[in-house]
Amino acid sequence: MTIWFATGNAHKKTELEAILSGLTITIPADAGISDFDPAENGTTFLENALIKARALYNLVKQPVIADDSGLCVDALGGRPGIHSARYGSEGKANLTSTERNALVLKELGDTSQRRARFVCAMVLLFNTDRFWVAQETLEGEILREERGSRGFGYDPILYVPSLGAAVAELSEETKNRISHRGKAGQIIRRIAEQVLD
Ligand code: IMP
Repeated sequence: MTIWFATGNAHKKTELEAILSGLTITIPADAGISDFDPAENGTTFLENALIKARALYNLVKQPVIADDSGLCVDALGGRPGIHSARYGSEGKANLTSTERNALVLKELGDTSQRRARFVCAMVLLFNTDRFWVAQETLEGEILREERGSRGFGYDPILYVPSLGAAVAELSEETKNRISHRGKAGQIIRRIAEQVLD
């Protein structure tokens, strides 16, 4: 059984394949769809996940998973939030992940209020009228400098106190067990197994 995953991010595909082991994941680029980039104009992670799921379903007419995720920093009023992927790039060239991380650290300054979390809304959409949703978090604190070289995006600046490590210092297996995407994916996986039966 193939499930489509509505993303252009190959790193997220690798993570979801590990989380949903046993299911074959296909992303638009695998099928030569190079321009899959629906306008994410929702106001929440959930709205944007549904926008991506519906856009891909309309192209392939097969079961689709979509997620929308990001980093929410309390002292920044929840930013970058749903704008995490393009944070700091408004109207300019795309920043690298390192530049984006530096921007978050700069905006936060030396405040001791460093609580933050990754959030992931994940949708499994079987057809226009049948879909299921899970939203999960990974709680942490923003470090004062990058740590670790694994993972992607904001992983080097989010510290997980219960593990004493930055997300970018965790093995892939550990990250997938505790992460926002991992926990949402495990719920979606159980739903998929039930409805595919
Ligand atoms: P999306 O592909 O529109 O959901 O954008 C998600 C963005 O949020 C990514 O490009 C990253 O910047 C950030 N993000 C989401 N999940 C993670 C994660 O697990 N680690 C680090 N950054 C993440």
